[in-house]
Amino acid sequence: MENIRNFSIIAHIDHGKSTLADRFLEITNTIPKEKLTEQHLDRMELERERGITIKLAPVSMNWRRYKLNLIDTPGHVDFSYEVFRSLSCVEGAILLVDATKGVEAQTLSNLLLAKEQNLKIIPVINKIDLPNALIEEVKEQLISSLGFNENEIYQVSAKLGTGVEKLLTDVSEKIPAPAGDPTSPLKALVFDSFFDSFKGVIAYVRVFGGKLAVGDKIKFLGTGEEAEVVSLGFFSPELVEKESLAAGEIGWIATGLKAFASSSGREEVQKVKVGDTIAHLNTDAQPLPGYKEYKPMVFAGLFPVEAVDFPRLKEALEKLKLNDAALIFEPESFPALGFGMRAGFLGPLHMEIVQERLEREFDLALVVSSPTVRYKVIKTGGQETVVSNPGALPESTVIKKIFEPWVKGTIISNKKYLGGILELVNARKARVTNIEYFVDKVKISCALPLREIIFQFYDQMKTVSSGYASFDYEFKDYEPVEAVKLEILVAKQSVDALSQIVPKEKAYQVGKALVEKLKEAIPRQQFEVSLQAAIGGKIIAAARIPPFRKDVTAKLYGGDRTRKDKLLQKQRAGKRRMKMVGRVEIPQEAFLAALKL
Ligand code: GDP
Ligand code: MG
Repeated sequence: MENIRNFSIIAHIDHGKSTLADRFLEITNTIPKEKLTEQHLDRMELERERGITIKLAPVSMNWRRYKLNLIDTPGHVDFSYEVFRSLSCVEGAILLVDATKGVEAQTLSNLLLAKEQNLKIIPVINKIDLPNALIEEVKEQLISSLGFNENEIYQVSAKLGTGVEKLLTDVSEKIPAPAGDPTSPLKALVFDSFFDSFKGVIAYVRVFGGKLAVGDKIKFLGTGEEAEVVSLGFFSPELVEKESLAAGEIGWIATGLKAFASSSGREEVQKVKVGDTIAHLNTDAQPLPGYKEYKPMVFAGLFPVEAVDFPRLKEALEKLKLNDAALIFEPESFPALGFGMRAGFLGPLHMEIVQERLEREFDLALVVSSPTVRYKVIKTGGQETVVSNPGALPESTVIKKIFEPWVKGTIISNKKYLGGILELVNARKARVTNIEYFVDKVKISCALPLREIIFQFYDQMKTVSSGYASFDYEFKDYEPVEAVKLEILVAKQSVDALSQIVPKEKAYQVGKALVEKLKEAIPRQQFEVSLQAAIGGKIIAAARIPPFRKDVTAKLYGGDRTRKDKLLQKQRAGKRRMKMVGRVEIPQEAFLAALKL
């Protein structure tokens, strides 16, 4: 145990965490050079395509006399729950800062997470090979704003490998060995999981005490589920089997458990949960502290394009939840769209990723309603309800007061963009609470309505700062808002999935814009389609889509069957992402268009 070292790499997105992990894999010969791909630990197809890390990723390496367990982490605010859980399993963290970007919003928030866990933190400046690297300025930022000492800051190029071997050696020596006793009763923390169609649920564990072996009878203290360890092992990063895992180690166990079990009622019960503690059967071990819950911020309805796919959607979400602990969901039905699931996400990117994963990993075609925040409604009688679905909003006569969530935001940028950023946040109704300078940077603290950051806030922030501002936020509290339910009617039928709860002062503007967007996004049908936006039954905006007789084969003359077939096939595929509302076909793009407002 004295040779085990557990650590994470944390940083703002794109500062080079996964690339640094590549170099570690290479010099420890964990992955032979010819097999090493770039950002090797980003194993999900989606991660590779987008060039971002979404999931925490553990890997074990041997280095000199040390057994190193590294957990690579994501850097985007929407995935900070992954970072938080990673940090609960390790004794130290490398805090990476891009020499061309300097300290950014997630540098601060991730550092804070690491400090809360009392980790040994090793500050490292990366990308020193780049001609525009500002090594001295960044060093100054680390010293003046984060409180590090000059002599503890490392400088590396994760891309070229400069300084990486020295860093790894020092990390091994500076990070403390894990505490814990292999002879004490078993206590293992579940920090992640996924569903394997052959092995059942695979739980990622950090063993804090005792020893876990193949064949052991275990129980999950939180869920009460009992199981037998079918196999276990370490990450290479693939799952590699071994006989046992002892205190201080990070690994995985397979129990053959299914994802969810139906209990007595219609409620489904999740069998393996992150944050749960594994103990041996017939011991009375106390659970580890586990995890605080991360509260979802953004909500949306997910609907299968084909109604028959609803059970598959439900099962897919149950399986996905094992691998995405921040995701929550519950059944919901919208009159126009049928059965679906209302899901909660940590932010807009998280929502986008969940939709993509459901479509790719589970082969579902989905329609997603406009994302919304969760409103708190006080009724005239004084009772309180929380709604995110406009359809669940009580009649306006019943509402006494509505509150909306506000967040505490932190923006870090180069000084020269301060003006543009202040203009942007003011337009988004922010209250700036503090402006702080350090070296060439400025940190703006503000409070703003959560709904203001769901749409296009990041893009606009990038624009006003030439890509140099970064943003982080956390829930603050609820503040009063005068809001109304804006209904959208297609062919006189209210489409809940397009309806929104909006601040009264914006209702007209949003209603008009929505109707215009829909007019563009919904294809002409064989009959005229009316589009209307209404508040409390009163129409505030309207548009019409003129009829059109569509014959896709008309422009093909002659007997080229294959071309004709292909075209028809393509049209059929396009239909997969259509939703029927009465007689009207609404394509996913229309929902997306509404979503992008
Ligand atoms: P992560 O989001 O922190 O995991 O960052 P990645 O490892 O995915 O790297 C983001 C981008 O920075 C990639 O295009 C890398 O090739 C690049 N990068 C990472 N480290 C270095 C470095 O030391 N020098 C240079 N020039 N580029 C780097
Ligand atoms: Mg990464």
